[in-house]
Amino acid sequence: MSKPTPSPVVPAQMELGSIFNFKCHPEIECFNECCKHADITLTPYDILNLSNHLKLSSGDFLKKHTVPFELDQSKMPGVKLKTQDKNPVCLFVDDKKGCSVYENRPTACRYYPLGVMAIKKADYNKDETNYSIIKEPHCMGHKENRKLSVAEYRKEQKTNTYDEYNRQFYQLILKKRSAGASIGRLPEMSLQLFFMACYDLDRFKSFIKSPAFVATYDLKPDYQDLIFKDKTALLNFSFRFLKQVLFGEMTIDLIKGAQEQRLKNRADIIKAKQEAEIYYHRQKEENLKRED
Ligand code: SF4
Ligand code: SF4
Repeated sequence: MSKPTPSPVVPAQMELGSIFNFKCHPEIECFNECCKHADITLTPYDILNLSNHLKLSSGDFLKKHTVPFELDQSKMPGVKLKTQDKNPVCLFVDDKKGCSVYENRPTACRYYPLGVMAIKKADYNKDETNYSIIKEPHCMGHKENRKLSVAEYRKEQKTNTYDEYNRQFYQLILKKRSAGASIGRLPEMSLQLFFMACYDLDRFKSFIKSPAFVATYDLKPDYQDLIFKDKTALLNFSFRFLKQVLFGEMTIDLIKGAQEQRLKNRADIIKAKQEAEIYYHRQKEENLKRED
């Protein structure tokens, strides 16, 4: 039996003050090697920036540049950057110039060779971020002579705004994981809603304008203007919306009576369906009798 490939992740937890040795620059002999071994999970904020950079709608970006996958056993939907068909080569890498979307490169590319993980300790209510270092044989940056802290590297890679939006996304996933057994697997419709609100912001925007949404949620006109004009405000709203519909954290006002009306409509539909079924079976029985 062949030996399993050892993980490149060094099993030591790092914090903001932890020091590591690393430098990446265009003259290094492994320039672009990491982008030819790409396995990049995208966050909603990554998708917002990359689709803006490429002047694509979120839906077109998802179709053209991503592949879906399941984030964990709870089947929460995730999205990865598409690579070449036969090799894990990122479609954005240019042999001479490097990353063609550099200013808007995803979080995972900014942090590399650091890995970032949001965790929630069992006895704490707040989530925490842990870092680890990834040492892959092709990456020569670890042999360069430069020591720096995780905090300095984050500053250099301009991860601040990314961290701010990603934190809200990770909170949703941690909430699902910690609620796991009590709420079980989310129904298909909730998973679709999660996908749309996190990754397909243009479709989510149309959803907010739909008559069903407008009849249910009480969004003040100023706030509506803001989320229709500014995609980052829309993303913040999408996180609030998901926390409300998936985990009951009520921060968006409901229109008075709308919930009751929706429940009534749903009850009316169920009743109509049941009546149709009874009618169908009765008709079937009568036909059978007639044939006898
Ligand atoms: S997005 Fe840019 S940095 Fe990230 S893997 Fe692709 S080419 Fe490399
Ligand atoms: S040093 Fe590492 S991160 Fe930089 S180009 Fe080489 S493989 Fe990529």
